[in-house]
Amino acid sequence: MKKEFAVIGLGRFGSSIVQELRELDANVLAIDKNEEVVNEYKDIVTEAVIGNTTDEAVLRSVGITNFDHVIVAIGENIQSSILTTLILKDLGVEKVTVKAQNEYHGRVLEKIGADHVIHPERDIGRLLAHRIVSSHTLDILEISEEHSIVEFKTTKNLYNKSILTLDFREKYDVSILAIKRGNQIIVNPDPVVKLLADDVLILIGKDTDLSRFETRFG
Ligand code: ADP
Repeated sequence: MKKEFAVIGLGRFGSSIVQELRELDANVLAIDKNEEVVNEYKDIVTEAVIGNTTDEAVLRSVGITNFDHVIVAIGENIQSSILTTLILKDLGVEKVTVKAQNEYHGRVLEKIGADHVIHPERDIGRLLAHRIVSSHTLDILEISEEHSIVEFKTTKNLYNKSILTLDFREKYDVSILAIKRGNQIIVNPDPVVKLLADDVLILIGKDTDLSRFETRFG
């Protein structure tokens, strides 16, 4: 059976999720309090509903608990985002992902039971900063306030050198979790492994150490 998704809030973020889910052929219910926006999306989604989701009755009337995953993409109106999330979790929706506007909003969402809190603007900002430092940084995943996992495409000065000789851990306090080599993933690579052109390193470390590494090799 196809998975059922509901997206609440069809601003820039919500609407791009809706479009992507449709491309993936998923069933999508879209809800927004703004009639104009709903009309814009009604032909591409499975069902489109005009309604204010801070009203429990609206969420009940669409049978929200039948959905596998609800995404709250209400942007600027933090109060509505929090209230909607609270009602969704109270009603027993299993998986709720919410877009946070800032750190405090994110912390409140976690406290009231959001299963997954995302910070798209902050994350894009961080990635951009890493990319500015090094064009070889492909992606980053923040794991704490100070630590990240970075995908880094090898540069010429790394080719044909072993992990042992490069000694990232000693020199930069950065560890290699894995190497992506074509379709192959070398998890926890042996120190004798030599790096090749087009290898992508999955590195973990403190942001400051990763940035030293990226500046040196990027
Ligand atoms: P973005 O930054 O992703 O563009 P916006 O804040 O501009 O986000 O858009 C959020 C959308 O959420 C708007 O279309 C707005 O009408 C909708 N929205 C806001 N509050 C509610 C609510 N209580 N119920 C339903 N939809 C809402």
